[in-house]
Amino acid sequence: MPLIDRDPLLLTPGPLTTSLRTKQAMLHDHGSWDPGFNGITASVCRQLLDIVHGADTHVCVPLQGSGTFAVEAALGTLVPHTGKVLVPNHGAYCARILRILGVLGRDAVELPLAEDQPMDPAAIEAALQADPGITHVAVVHCETGTGILNPLAEIAQVVAAQGRALIVDAMSSFGALPIDARALPFDALIAASGKCLEGVPGMGFVLARRSALEASAGQCHSLAMDLHDQWAYLQKTTQWRFTPPTHVVAALAEALQQFQEEGGQAARGARYAANAQRLVQGMSALGLQPFLAPAVQAPIIVTFHAPQHPAWHFQTFYEGVRERGFILYPGKLTQVETFRVGCIGAITPHDIDQVVHAVGATLRQMGIVNHA
Ligand SMILES: *Cc1c(COP(=O)(O)O)cnc(C)c1O
Repeated sequence: MPLIDRDPLLLTPGPLTTSLRTKQAMLHDHGSWDPGFNGITASVCRQLLDIVHGADTHVCVPLQGSGTFAVEAALGTLVPHTGKVLVPNHGAYCARILRILGVLGRDAVELPLAEDQPMDPAAIEAALQADPGITHVAVVHCETGTGILNPLAEIAQVVAAQGRALIVDAMSSFGALPIDARALPFDALIAASGKCLEGVPGMGFVLARRSALEASAGQCHSLAMDLHDQWAYLQKTTQWRFTPPTHVVAALAEALQQFQEEGGQAARGARYAANAQRLVQGMSALGLQPFLAPAVQAPIIVTFHAPQHPAWHFQTFYEGVRERGFILYPGKLTQVETFRVGCIGAITPHDIDQVVHAVGATLRQMGIVNHA
């Protein structure tokens, strides 16, 4: 018998812990042709646009699959074959964008950056000035590999001033951190159901500038990934092209209802910030230090240095914490040994206290106590 008689809480960057209401929304079968279901899709898309105040300029294109599918679809649809994309790279998800562009055969220019430093808008500006052939810039808002926050508004200003288009992977920030399409110019902003909106995984979405999407007809390398085609079909029929993830969409609609009840983005971001603060405090008391400086840490996921102790072994640590009811995440860095703890999902600072307690108990069991 497991010690804990409930699902473990997921302290991970998705899938994450969802509320009972969100899970219960999946107890129904919806027909993809049914006006009731298509009304849910339309309402979800409207709300997603409203979160970034984008209804006047942008459209929402939902897409089946995990977040990466939507990133690949946005790049494949919006970047023409003759395009060239600047990718500032300071982590795993930036590197994934570069990989996607390579697979798609789109020209890419990497701007390599230190993994513990945010993107520098001046460096992006210099790279754009140096290469007039660059048509697009693709950035990650919160690089979930480390948990670092990038200055998106400043980056968007620089990119717009240089007359290039911006594509943003806002997967781990959307809904939790402020993004305002009226002041922050972008051609595409990409996120998914199973991150800060606290839905279940299975649906990505791209908030695309209407004019850019309209200009992209016939440009995509792929049928299933073609956002223009997906959008045109939705416009014409109110239906998804191909089978929609009906349960996922229903769960997202219910999760959005709770998002609004909580107080929208500001309240969601404040709860995550409280989680992150409580986590860092509690872990510090156990001698565990964050990898990033506080000023650049996003309140989404925190990377911690592994204890400098001969008894440290991530798998043992993971299993000990798991037995106590919590799932953590391995680090994604190549140079230093780390592990990660997510602050997002249907969890509160009270849950974080329990996580810290479980981490402390596990470290004591492993013989690692209050190391420096
Ligand atoms: C989660 C995430 C993605 C998508 O990853 P999937 O495994 O495809 O869901 C992309 N970018 C960032 C920054 C993420 O946090």
